[in-house]
Amino acid sequence: MSDPLPQGATIGILGGGQLGRMLSVAASRLGLRCHIFEPGEAPPAGQVADAVTTAAYDDRAALEAFAASVDVITYEFENIPTEALDLLQALKPIRPGREALRVSQDRLTEKTFLTDLGLRTAPFADITDADSLMQALEIIGAPAILKTRRFGYDGKGQARILKLEDAGPALEEMRGAPAILEGFVEFSHEVSVIAARSADGAVACFDPGENVHREGILRTTTVPARLTTAQRTDAVLLAAKILNALNYVGVMGVELFVTPQGLLVNEIAPRVHNSGHWTQNGCTIDQFEQHIRAVANWPLGDGSRYADVQMENLIGDDLDKLPDLSHEADTAIHLYGKAEVKAGRKMGHVNRIVRG
Ligand code: AMP
Repeated sequence: MSDPLPQGATIGILGGGQLGRMLSVAASRLGLRCHIFEPGEAPPAGQVADAVTTAAYDDRAALEAFAASVDVITYEFENIPTEALDLLQALKPIRPGREALRVSQDRLTEKTFLTDLGLRTAPFADITDADSLMQALEIIGAPAILKTRRFGYDGKGQARILKLEDAGPALEEMRGAPAILEGFVEFSHEVSVIAARSADGAVACFDPGENVHREGILRTTTVPARLTTAQRTDAVLLAAKILNALNYVGVMGVELFVTPQGLLVNEIAPRVHNSGHWTQNGCTIDQFEQHIRAVANWPLGDGSRYADVQMENLIGDDLDKLPDLSHEADTAIHLYGKAEVKAGRKMGHVNRIVRG
């Protein structure tokens, strides 16, 4: 493994949202600097980073100057344009690497990758038009979910097909974008594993968390998750298998469905993940520091869990609860510094220590 990044070295982060912000705070605790690249004005991460570039992902000069000012590049979201990555990769190392991005940017590539690894997912089919949708529905059956292959997040770009008549409107909702049909998984609950891998191949997983979504957006993550010991082992083994197959460096979120037949992989996110925010108050080393350590060639830290925690997202008007939350015992408040409150916008989260 090459040398750890020295004190004062700079990590470039593509994306300036709350994940970039919390990565930047973690990096500064380790004596490292962060430079944020973000097209939007006044990004949340910009308030805590050493430098910010406000430029579009097709601004070659800005990308080149950014690369010249950093030692290594990481990212807080997966939909970075390929041309920007090509340019940056020629100049500085990108961690996690391109393969993880290629696989996770497209739901069809991702599901094919996972099933090729021997892991189980919802049944799926490539949808190119109305005919392929009808054929796929014959095999997969309803209920099913039609999803755009790319650029979906927080339940966006998804349409449920409960009966055959829903197929037409669902396809229209995709607006001509390439899509994938997924069979509806009758899961009992959803969990995720936040896993980390260092450049020398060491893997460390945080304890799986149990996730509750509303309207496609994560609301709470609770640790410990309801899992048998065997399921817990399975969750960690399958996450490690994914990271190894990608020769991955950094933190990844692996979302799983718990079913009576075992664990199915829903999706992977090649970055720190909302369902890993509980680690900030439940572990000595949280997901953000773990990611920075991996990216900076440090050894992975001790992420073992020392408390039961419930993370609750503060979405839109939830921010009105702040006066009450600030009086709550055992509750750590994390706010993202976003000026404007919008419906569905993640404004912050709280981590509540749950005492038995
Ligand atoms: P996704 O953006 O694919 O993670 O989907 C967001 C949420 O929709 C998931 O966390 C699940 O609650 C639900 N969901 C997605 N795909 C399926 C599926 N194939 N079967 C059942 N529920 C699903």
